Amino acid sequence: MKTEGSCGSRTENNGGPTGAYEQLKPYLEQAMAIQTALILFEWDNETLAPDQAGPYTARVQGNLASIYQEILTGKTVGDLLGKSQREQGLSEIEQAIIREAQEEREKLACIPPDEYQKFHELAADSARIWAKAKQDQDFEAFAPILEKIISYQKKFAGYQAKDGQKLYDVMLDNYEKGFSMEKLDEFFQMLKKELVPLVRRIRESGTKIRDSFLYGDYPEEKQQELAEYLAGYVGFDFNRGVLAKSAHPFTTSLHNHDVRITTNYKERMDSSLFSVIHEAGHAVYELGIADELTQTLAGQGASMGIHESQSRFFENMIGRNGAFWVPVYPRLKELFPEQLSGIDRETFVRAINKIQPGPIRTEADELTYSLHVMVRYELEKMMIEDDFNVKDLPRLWTDKYEEYLGVKPENVAEGVLQDIHWAQGSFGYFPSYALGSAFAAQMYRYIRKKVDFDELLRQGNIGEIREILRQHIHRFGKLKDSRRLLQDMTGEDFNPRYYIEYLQEKAEKIYFSPS
Ligand code: ZN
Repeated sequence: MKTEGSCGSRTENNGGPTGAYEQLKPYLEQAMAIQTALILFEWDNETLAPDQAGPYTARVQGNLASIYQEILTGKTVGDLLGKSQREQGLSEIEQAIIREAQEEREKLACIPPDEYQKFHELAADSARIWAKAKQDQDFEAFAPILEKIISYQKKFAGYQAKDGQKLYDVMLDNYEKGFSMEKLDEFFQMLKKELVPLVRRIRESGTKIRDSFLYGDYPEEKQQELAEYLAGYVGFDFNRGVLAKSAHPFTTSLHNHDVRITTNYKERMDSSLFSVIHEAGHAVYELGIADELTQTLAGQGASMGIHESQSRFFENMIGRNGAFWVPVYPRLKELFPEQLSGIDRETFVRAINKIQPGPIRTEADELTYSLHVMVRYELEKMMIEDDFNVKDLPRLWTDKYEEYLGVKPENVAEGVLQDIHWAQGSFGYFPSYALGSAFAAQMYRYIRKKVDFDELLRQGNIGEIREILRQHIHRFGKLKDSRRLLQDMTGEDFNPRYYIEYLQEKAEKIYFSPS
C-alpha cells in the first residue's frame, strides 16, 4: 500500500471514505508489476540471456511467481475482491478487472504454493532440456521430464476442475473459454472430413508451382531490412516496440507502449518474411488495447484464439493476398535484385501460396496448417485423458502425420520435438492456433462485405483495415470473450464453415482453375 510522506503512518487514505475497489487497486498493480517482470525474464531468456544463466535465473523466476501468487491469493485481496464484487457504480472496465482478478485468484489459490514454485522451476529446466534433446534428436532425453510436466499439469487441472469437469477441458478453458472437447471434436471432425481429401487431391493433381527462387542466397542483413520494413508497413510502431532475433519467433507484451516481436532468418526467404508479418499482427493487437485497460488484468488479448486470429489475419488474409504485393513487390525486388531476377509478381505470389504438406507446423501452408494442430490436439487428449505412455509419442506422431498429411518426419527434431509448448506445460494451447485461423476467416468474410479489401491493399492502405480490427477487436482487451467478439463483429456465433470455404476457394484458385 502507498502511504505518502510519513513512513509508518497508519492512515491509508487521506480523508473521505474509499471504496473497496479503490483499496484493491494498489494490490493488483503490484501483482501486475511482478507479472511484467516475469514476462520480461521470459523475453530475455529467449533473446539475450547468456547460456549458463538458466538455472540461476529460473530460481528468480520461481520466486517472483510465488510472490505473484501470494499477492493475489492473500486474505486482504480476497476480502477486498469480495467487497468490490458487491460495490455499486463501478464502470464496465472496473468490473472486468475484478472478474479477471477473481478468476486468476481462484486458479492460483487451488494450487499449493510450493508446488506452484516447483513447477515453474521445472518448466524452466524442461525448456532447456527440450532444446538440447531437439538439437541431439534424442527423445529419450526429454521423455522423463515431459512425464513430470504432464503429471504436474494433470494435478493442477485436478485442483481447478469444477465437479465432473474433465482434466483436458480444464486446460482448454485456460486458453479459450467456451471451447471444450465436445466443441473442438466437432470442429476438428469437420476439418478432417473436408481438408484431408482436399490435400490428397492437390498432391495427386500433379500441378507444379515454381518456388525454387525463394531458397538461396538471401543475406541476413537484407532480410532484416525487409523485416523492419514490413513490420512498419503493416502498422508495427517502432516507438512502442522492438524487433529482435530468437530461435522461435514470438511476441511479448509488457503493456501497450512496449510490445516486442522476434524473428529468425532462414535459408527460405519467405519464412522470416511471414513470421514477421504474423508477429506484427499479434503486436498490433496488443498496441491497440485501450489505455484504460493496459497494465490491468483485463488489459491483454481476449484469448489465445483471438490473438492467433489477428496474427493469422495479417499473415494470410493480408500478407498472402496478391493485392498486398502490388505496392510492396517493387521494394522486394530492390532489396534482392539478383535473387528475384526474372521473377514477376504473379510468379512470386503463386510461390508464397504453394500448398505442400511438410513435417513442420510453423512452416506449413495455410491449407495444411490446421491439420498439424489436429495431430497435437488428438495426442494431448490421449496424454491427459488416457492411460498414456510417453514413450509411444514419437510413433503415434509419425502415424498421424502419415495419415493426415501424407508425410513422414525424418527424425524427432522435425517430429515430436519440434514445438516448445509441451516442455512448458502449455497443454490445451494448440487448438487455439486452428481456432484462430477459423476466427480470422469469419472476420475476413465480414470485412470484405464492408470495404473493398483488395483495393485497400493495392493502395497500400493497411491502416483502414487495421482500424476496423481495432474498433471491433483490439481495443476491448479482455472485456469480451472470443465468441462474444465474433458475435458482436460479424453478427453470428463462431461458424467454422467460413474457414473451410475460404480454404477451398483458395485451393481451387491456385490448383484447379488457375487464371
Ligand atoms: Zn502466433
